[in-house]
Amino acid sequence: MINRWTAFVACLLLGGGLGWWVTAGKGLTFGLAAGVAAAAFCWLSLDSLRLGRLLAWLRSEQSNEAPGVMATAMSASGGVWGEIADRTRRLLKRRDEQYQEIQGRLDEFLAAMQASPSGVVLLDAQWRIEWSNRMATQHFGFDAQRDVMQHISNLVREPAFKAYMAAGNFSRDVVIPGNFSTPARPVKLSVHVHSYGRDRKLLLSRDITAVELAEAMRRDFVANVSHEIRTPLTVLSGFIETLQTLPLKDKERERYLALMSQQSYRMQTLVNDLLTLSRLEGSPFPDLHDWATTGALLAQCEQEARALSAVLKTQVSRLEFDLGPSSEIAGVQTELYSAMSNLVTNAVRYTPESGRVNVSWTVLPDGRGEFRVRDTGPGIAPEHLPRLTERFYRVDRSRSRETGGTGLGLAIVKHVAQRHGAELQIESVIGQGSSFSITFPAARVRTLQVSEAIRTAP
Ligand code: ADP
Repeated sequence: MINRWTAFVACLLLGGGLGWWVTAGKGLTFGLAAGVAAAAFCWLSLDSLRLGRLLAWLRSEQSNEAPGVMATAMSASGGVWGEIADRTRRLLKRRDEQYQEIQGRLDEFLAAMQASPSGVVLLDAQWRIEWSNRMATQHFGFDAQRDVMQHISNLVREPAFKAYMAAGNFSRDVVIPGNFSTPARPVKLSVHVHSYGRDRKLLLSRDITAVELAEAMRRDFVANVSHEIRTPLTVLSGFIETLQTLPLKDKERERYLALMSQQSYRMQTLVNDLLTLSRLEGSPFPDLHDWATTGALLAQCEQEARALSAVLKTQVSRLEFDLGPSSEIAGVQTELYSAMSNLVTNAVRYTPESGRVNVSWTVLPDGRGEFRVRDTGPGIAPEHLPRLTERFYRVDRSRSRETGGTGLGLAIVKHVAQRHGAELQIESVIGQGSSFSITFPAARVRTLQVSEAIRTAP
């Protein structure tokens, strides 16, 4: 500033000097005054010009634009206006950088909210939608752009949600049906409102359909297990009481003990199947290092099938085992046996005396291996087929129980197949019979030598 005053005074002095020199002879005072006035006029004009340029730049400068060429030129020209221009330019640049940084952070924050697996809706003090993420639009079926500033209750019309809003107790969530929920495919949403800022609300929604389904399945499972165990237990305790209280003849006692042993065997098989299922769920997927021979697996199944057929006294007229090419399957031997034997024993258990059961192992042209069990039993109606692998799902409840079924056999087969990358297929025609097959992927099958071996037993 001192420099500027010095320059101004120097300019006036120079003007005065020049005026006196130019007007020599016309009087000292006139010359000096004219020179000073002219210098002051020039100074002010130049200043006004530079001020005008600075103003023009400031006016033209958009808040979100980088400082222009004009500002750079002005700051380069020096002087107080140059300095003002320079400082303003730096301030604008810094503001611009801060704006970019804030914008970047906001974009990242919004991207994180968009990536959230929960629906997020920001509501103002009047419950109007300010912003919502993609998941929320899917959950509630509204449009993120079109529905901005719409009242939430105009879009989420569920009475339970309206009651939740009205009650104002947001310490818990509310469960409502989601968008596209139908009785056949129910969708359940957990909606929770959180207050923040000045009366603003953050609405979070979560799809809990799978959780609810799993919970319902868990409840059903516990109820089924309890029921399955309670029945033989009741029978057992009844017999024990009879044996304790009544003086029985030896023959009667023997009969009761046989029945008791049957019931305890039933409980044992159920517990064994439950343990097998929990082991299958809890252990890692089988790798490709252990190989089981199909010949040995089928031989084991055959032995079991024949023994069972004899025990059930409903010997099927033909029990055929087609061992196919000598091959190996990569997987856990005990699991593979459990799956195969479940299919074979089911066929024996459900096929009547005059029927036929055929068990085969084939290596398909594309290298996959197929284990198939066909029977000429009662067949299964199409409506039951999709549910057969559910735990405790039975079509013929009494036949299942009579023959020692637990209702878990096909659930075990499905698990084993999945763990070995195999596919379980069920085809059945009522009155004609059923065909169950497990197809193993080519990577898990290797053929040792080609030898067809068909053994048929009367
Ligand atoms: P279970 O121990 O009752 O046999 P599974 O899970 O093995 O249980 O089978 C489920 C139901 O599928 C059985 O209760 C039975 O009704 C039906 N089922 C299974 N295999 C056959 C078959 N080969 N022929 C007819 N019905 C079958």
